Amino acid sequence: SKPIVAVVGRPNVGKSTLVNRIAVSREAIVHESRGVTRDRSYHEADWNGRDFVIIDTGGIESVKSQDVFAPRIREQALLACQEADVIVFVVDGATGITDEDEEVARIVRRVDKPVFLIVNKKDDPANEQDGLWDFYALGVGEPRPLSASHGYGTGDLLDDIVACF
Ligand code: GDP
Ligand code: MG
Repeated sequence: SKPIVAVVGRPNVGKSTLVNRIAVSREAIVHESRGVTRDRSYHEADWNGRDFVIIDTGGIESVKSQDVFAPRIREQALLACQEADVIVFVVDGATGITDEDEEVARIVRRVDKPVFLIVNKKDDPANEQDGLWDFYALGVGEPRPLSASHGYGTGDLLDDIVACF
């Protein structure tokens, strides 16, 4: 079956924006027997002829229910990481590290799979290095600047993701 890429991170960092940019269509697919859950959606993707499935996590309700962030984030990140071959951990380059980022990092660090740490919302390449290295503290490797809105950095990320398959 196709390789699976999981996109994890706390709410509002830009996971869905990134998935929508990478996926063939916004429409979620029914993935094997798991179907489309409320909190994880599966999308077809390909890059240079390499087909894969990309999982968006975080669902629809998490943005509003502040008080249930931590357990939800943990559960979704864990499930997605377990079924993934490659993990994309997204953080927000405009706000810096939060407690919820640390929660996700704890899960990601325990999984022995390739991880790409994406520092999103780096919309201006001229400032892409600002605050970038702070994210080393998450302990999941080298932070990479990207703008899911503008697309900046996504080609390089995809090159490196498909090289893991
Ligand atoms: P999710 O909760 O992690 O799925 O985040 P979303 O993809 O829903 O994005 C949350 C907010 O961040 C939305 O208002 C997006 O438009 C915004 N956003 C996402 N990516 C970027 C980006 O690269 N740059 C900027 N400036 N905003 C972004
Ligand atoms: Mg989302």
